[in-house]
Formats: sequence, structure tokens, C-alpha cells
Amino acid sequence: LKAKRPAPQGPQKVPGIGHIIAVASGKGGVGKSTIAANLAVALAAEGRRVGLLDADVYGPSQPRMLGAKGRPASPDGKTILPLQAHGVTVMSMGFMTEEGQAVVWRGPMLMSALQQMMLQVDWGELDILIVDLPPGTGDVQLTLTQKFAIDGAVIVSTPQDVALLDARKGIDMFRQMKTPILGMIENMSTHICSNCGHEEHVFGHGGVSAEAAKLGVPLLAEIPLHLEIRLASDGGTPVVTAQPDSPQAAAFRKVARAL
Ligand code: ADP
Repeated sequence: LKAKRPAPQGPQKVPGIGHIIAVASGKGGVGKSTIAANLAVALAAEGRRVGLLDADVYGPSQPRMLGAKGRPASPDGKTILPLQAHGVTVMSMGFMTEEGQAVVWRGPMLMSALQQMMLQVDWGELDILIVDLPPGTGDVQLTLTQKFAIDGAVIVSTPQDVALLDARKGIDMFRQMKTPILGMIENMSTHICSNCGHEEHVFGHGGVSAEAAKLGVPLLAEIPLHLEIRLASDGGTPVVTAQPDSPQAAAFRKVARAL
């Protein structure tokens, strides 16, 4: 008698999605969402079919950063139709809540929301899905890496020790989950004065580069702290599109080409 064996419960591929890349950070406020948005837009500019899943359920920033507003439709009550912004297919928890409304959920609800956003959203055919994770090493990170085949993680950190300490923990978690680390990005690496162009290392300089070397992972980019990056994000058009000829846009495009 041939008993039907249950299917293996390993991480699954999402149909139609070529590669899944997580953008992670140890701490909040280091610019992870800004980097995720700019990478997604830069990849789209390179002609790749790109999706961005804003899995930062506690603080979804992508609706604002990509200027994507509205509630995704669900004509059949099951499949969710994502929004489009700057050539990127976008889904965010922020589309389901009012701005300013908190998501007050325990782990299991977060886990099922993440699975829904992965599997019930009609992503179409994508070359790359960028997942903007919440900061830290919590339920969302664990569910993502356990349930889905993640091709790699990009770790964003600012150069100061407190941020690096947590970034290191993030890298350790991904390593435990057998997710390849594609590299680190140093954000707010140096401050460039928009008046005079003077450069200042507000959070120190080179910390991420040294950490990446120590951990044996590539340093993908050093992105300056620049007023235009913040203004562009707040205005709903990432700097890669808002100022395509700027050095910061070039830095994001370089990373996108390497992914
Ligand atoms: P996180 O996702 O890590 O919490 P965000 O991407 O939301 O961080 O960034 C926090 C704030 O810092 C946002 O207002 C964003 O526009 C700003 N910001 C991020 N990176 C830069 C940068 N390189 N230059 C200027 N402002 C930045």
C-alpha cells in the first residue's frame, strides 16, 4: 500500500518570481526602506521586471516613498491586485491600513499576512522581488526565510557602532537560516552639505566597510546622507528617478546592476 507522503515543508519558490531579495537592517531609521525603494526603481530602470513587497508591517513606508496610494482591488475576493509605481509592482501593508493607524498584531497574524502578501498577490511574472523587511530579527524575518526560497539578503547599516552591532545580529540570523548575504550597504556614510558641498562624517566613516571585510561579505555601496535623498523619498519619487544624473542615483544603479 502506497501511503501518500506529505510534501516536504522546506522553503518554497513563489510561482512567477525569478529571485527574491530581502533588504534588512538591525535597527530602524538607518534608511532600509529608502534603499529598498531606490534599488527597486533602479532595477526597473535597468529593464528588469521588479516587485517590491513592503513587509515592514509595523512601519510601512513604501506607499509614501513610492507615491503609491490606494487600496489594492480583489475582484475574486482571493487574489489581490498590487499597485504600480515608477515601473515597480508594489504591495504594502500600508495599503490595507489608514496612514497613522497602528498594526497591533501578534506573531501568527503577522506570519499569515506575510504569506498572503507573497502568495495571494498577483505579482505577474517578475525577475526580482525586493522585500523590505522590518528592522531586527523577528517573526517576519523568520517566516520569510523559513517558508520562502530567498536568494539573498542585502544588509543596510549606518557606520556607527550601535547600528553595526545590530546589523551583525541580522547577518548571523540570515546565516543560521542559510540565506546568502549578498552584501552590506553603508547608508548616511558621509554628509554632503547641499549648500557648499562640504563633506562631514556625521556617523563616522568606513564602519560598514570594515565590518563587511571582517564578516567576509561584499560592501555594495556607500550612500551619502543627502538632503535630496530625503526630499525625494518624502515626495514619493525616489532619488534614482527624481535626480537620475546625481552621484547617489548612479550608486544605486551600480548596486542594481550587480544584483
Ligand atoms: P528605515 O527603513 O531603516 O527605518 P527609512 O528608509 O525610513 O529608514 O529612512 C528614515 C529617514 O531617513 C527617512 O526620512 C529617509 O528619507 C531618510 N533617509 C534615509 N537615507 C537617507 C540618506 N542617505 N540621505 C538623507 N536622508 C535619508
